[in-house]
Amino acid sequence: PFGADVVPKAPEDPLFGLMAAYRKDTFDKKVDLGIGAYRDDNAKPWVLPVVKKADALLHSSPDLNHEYLPIAGLAEFTSASQKLILGADSPAIASSRVASLQTISGTGAVHLGALFLSKFYHPAHNPNPSVYFSAPTWANHHQIFSNVKLPIATYPYFSPKTRGLDFDGMLAAIEAAPRGSIVLLHACAHNPTGVDPTREQWRQIADVMAARAHFPFFDCAYQGFASGSLDRDAWAVRHFVERGFELLVAQSYAKNFGLYGERAGCFHFVAGAGAEGADTAVRVASQLAILQRSEISNPPAYGARIASAVLNDAALFAEWEDNLRTMSGRIMAMREALRAKLEALGTPGTWNHVTEQIGMFSFTGLTEKQVLAVREKDHVYMTKNGRISMAGLNTGNVDYVANAIDRAVR
Ligand code: PMP
Repeated sequence: PFGADVVPKAPEDPLFGLMAAYRKDTFDKKVDLGIGAYRDDNAKPWVLPVVKKADALLHSSPDLNHEYLPIAGLAEFTSASQKLILGADSPAIASSRVASLQTISGTGAVHLGALFLSKFYHPAHNPNPSVYFSAPTWANHHQIFSNVKLPIATYPYFSPKTRGLDFDGMLAAIEAAPRGSIVLLHACAHNPTGVDPTREQWRQIADVMAARAHFPFFDCAYQGFASGSLDRDAWAVRHFVERGFELLVAQSYAKNFGLYGERAGCFHFVAGAGAEGADTAVRVASQLAILQRSEISNPPAYGARIASAVLNDAALFAEWEDNLRTMSGRIMAMREALRAKLEALGTPGTWNHVTEQIGMFSFTGLTEKQVLAVREKDHVYMTKNGRISMAGLNTGNVDYVANAIDRAVR
C-alpha cells in the first residue's frame, strides 16, 4: 500500500541537509552559519555555567528518581515559566487566568497550541479561521499547523528594500484578514529575519488585532537571548496581556538556557481579562491535559528540572541573567564586527541592517546565487534565503566571512 505514488520520497529538511554538507566538508577554514544554536568564540557549543551548577545540584539530591512527571509537567517549572514570560506581577497570574503545560520545547508548545485551536477555536462569525504567519517565518510553523489542518495565510513582514520591517504591509494584511483570524507573532528576535517591530508598532498591531477580534499566538523562542534582558524581550507579550487579549504563548528554553536537546518548553493559555477568565482557564487546562496525554502522556523531566532549579533560586537566576548577557553581548559584538568589516571593504550595498536586526539571525540580503557562491568558493554555509546565524561568527572567522561575502556580491 505504500508505493511511491502514495508515499513519495520527501526532500531532506533543508537545514539539516546543510548541516550534513558542512560536516562532510574537510576544508580547515569552513564556517557554519546555518544552524540556530549558540557557539562560543571558539565555535564550540557552550554549556551555560549556571546550567552546570544546576546540574550538579540536581545530581547531589538524594531524592532524584526517574518517575513520570504529571501530565501538565513539573508544577514549579510551569509556574516559574508563567512569571518569566508574563512578569511576576502579571494581572493574569494574580487572577488565575493562565493555564500552563510543560511541553517538548518550543516546537511542542507550538504544536499543542495549534492542536488546541484546531479543535476548539471556531468563532461564530469565522468558524474555520486561518492562521496568519509572517512572510517569511520559521519554516516549521507551516508544517506544524498543516498537520492539524488549520488553513494557512500570510502577512507581509520583511521588506527586501530596507531589509527591515514592512510595517504598512503587515498592518494592512492583518486589518484585511477575516474577523477572528489567528495571528502568529514572534515575541522577539524574529526567525529568520532578525527584524522586530518597535514598541510603538506593537501598540498599533494590538490596536488592529483588537478592532478585528483576532486571536494572538506568540511564539517566544529567544527571551533574554535577543536583547540580553528577559523583561525587554517579553514586552510585546506583556503588552497584549495588559490590553486584555485572550492569547496563547509557546515558550522555548532551548536557546536561552542552551538546553536544545533536553526539550524544555512551556505552553500558556491566557484567558481574557473578564470576570469569567479564571473559569475559562480551568476548563481549557482540563482539555489541554487530554490533548497532552494522547500525544506524549507526560513531558521529559531533565531539562525542566534544570530550568526550574535556576528559575526558582534568586542567586542562580541572577547568574543566568549574566550568562544571557554573555551570549547576547557576543552576538551583538559580532554584528558590529561584520558590519564594520564589510563597510571597510567597501562592499557594495548598505550593511546597517546587520546591526539593526536582533537575535540569533540576520537576513543578509544575499541572493541564492551569492549564497551558493560563498559555499562553493569559501566553504561558508548559510541557508539559501541568505539567513546567517550570528552565533556562527567569532573573532577568528568574521574577517574571513566578510571577505567571502564581499567577493560574492561584487
Ligand atoms: N519557534 C521559533 C521561531 C524558533 O526559531 C524555534 C527554534 N528554532 C522554535 C520555535 C522552537 O525550537 P525548540 O523546539 O528547539 O524549542
